[in-house]
Amino acid sequence: MAKKTRKFKTEVQQLLDLVIHSLYSKKEIFLRELISNASDAIDRARFEALTNKGIDLAEGGGRIELVPDKEARTLTLRDNGIGMSQEEIETNIGTIANSGTRKYLESIREQAEKGTDAEFIGQFGVGFYASFMVADRVDLVTRRAGGDEAAWCWSSQGAGKYTVEEATRDASGTDVILHIAEGQEEYLDGWRLKSIVRQYSNYIDYPIVLITPAEASAEAEEDGEKEDEASSSQEEVVNAQTAIWKKARTDVTDDEYSEFYKHVSHDMADPLRIIHYAAEGTTEFLALLFIPKQAPWDLHLREERKGIHLYVKNVFISDDCRSLLPEYLRFVRGVVDSSDLPLNVSREILQDDAIIRRIRKSLVGRLLKELGDLLGKDRETYHTFYEAFGLVFKEGITQDMENNSDKLKDLLLFRSTTTEETTYTTLKEYTDRMPSGQEAIYFLIGENKAAIGHAPHLEAFRSKGYEVLLLTDPIDEWMVQRLTEYDGKSLQDIGRGDIGLGDEEE
Ligand code: ADP
Ligand code: MG
Repeated sequence: MAKKTRKFKTEVQQLLDLVIHSLYSKKEIFLRELISNASDAIDRARFEALTNKGIDLAEGGGRIELVPDKEARTLTLRDNGIGMSQEEIETNIGTIANSGTRKYLESIREQAEKGTDAEFIGQFGVGFYASFMVADRVDLVTRRAGGDEAAWCWSSQGAGKYTVEEATRDASGTDVILHIAEGQEEYLDGWRLKSIVRQYSNYIDYPIVLITPAEASAEAEEDGEKEDEASSSQEEVVNAQTAIWKKARTDVTDDEYSEFYKHVSHDMADPLRIIHYAAEGTTEFLALLFIPKQAPWDLHLREERKGIHLYVKNVFISDDCRSLLPEYLRFVRGVVDSSDLPLNVSREILQDDAIIRRIRKSLVGRLLKELGDLLGKDRETYHTFYEAFGLVFKEGITQDMENNSDKLKDLLLFRSTTTEETTYTTLKEYTDRMPSGQEAIYFLIGENKAAIGHAPHLEAFRSKGYEVLLLTDPIDEWMVQRLTEYDGKSLQDIGRGDIGLGDEEE
């Protein structure tokens, strides 16, 4: 068949222009996108092989190869997945099918109309077209599994048009050949490629094999041996391939959890608590969460915060997805892996997505339940938690958007006129101790316990046997504006001087 030249659909060209001209974006994400496509293609081949005998995965299973060639200035991504027929190339590569991408494109266009810089483009997935951030020409050679033996080569320089012509390929699968653009030579470097794969695609299920030409060995040179093409290249599996959160809890050792926790948190200590579960129902996802033992140095610097690592279909999306957890749980670390979200999800979409909101609700519910269990069963560890994160956690009373205020109130700890200097009371314990006749929960705010513990107006309460909560954190003043009631009893500030003690002698 003769070579055909076609024009991109308008929306594709618009996306391409954005991709090509976003000079300051994080270009390295093209690799994440291409690896994710390769992994999807292998997933599909595996799936189709279940029902179609004509499809048969190459020996050894799925495999993704990365081949940088400095001389030819190309980087090739090769997979042995499903491949594409000629028609599939037209429908998949010539249009924007993915709704996430389309939504994203709209939001970018809005930004552009508002005159905002489109610099942030590189932070999101733009799919296959991300290739054009680093390449001035992209060839895609592909052969459909289970079809005839025809292979096709799609090629484009990203400007207006592309060509499709017949090609040859030994087996089914796809090669994406990036002709690396001037200035993007780092993507021909094995070390650089390795570190990008580890950062973004470490947990891809299939081996990602980096194939680099070996340095000619000194011995071979001495012997004057002719270099043998096949044996002169080096192969290295770059990704870890172990998605620890996909394993059953019983299959993961505490050491493995700890190692992974340190990887995602950059903490040196072991975690205080591990929460690992699979959510089922309308929103399905996997969560592996950790509560640290100690507060990180940047706990109160909100701008610096990194949070939960979000994976979509095994592909790392973000470690900064703030909408997954409320601010008051910002100390939690770990991974959420969802197959329901589109891979090309943008930060804007993440903030305002129904699936994310459901995941968040589930995570919050689960975390509060775990903390409740900890409080009930292991008071000492709970104190460790509260001493590290209580200040942040109390913000929950004012931030709660998931209607958890009752649960949150039960998780608060207080010093009081009854507790020892070193221990705490919960509101539940306080109300359980209340003598008959005491109508309200009393508290006093001050700078420190010693100062308010001797406040003269405590005497009247002491003599009646009424316990008073002693609030000394700066945030307490703020918290009690919302914390006005517990279990049907009002909270009253005895420092305000207008509290009646419920009898006439007062
Ligand atoms: P998305 O992956 O979100 O669908 P992309 O722009 O990354 O969007 O890819 C578009 C489509 O091109 C894919 O849905 C797939 O059908 C096809 N495709 C891309 N890469 C490959 C590949 N390596 N093998 C087979 N099909 C591919
Ligand atoms: Mg993709």
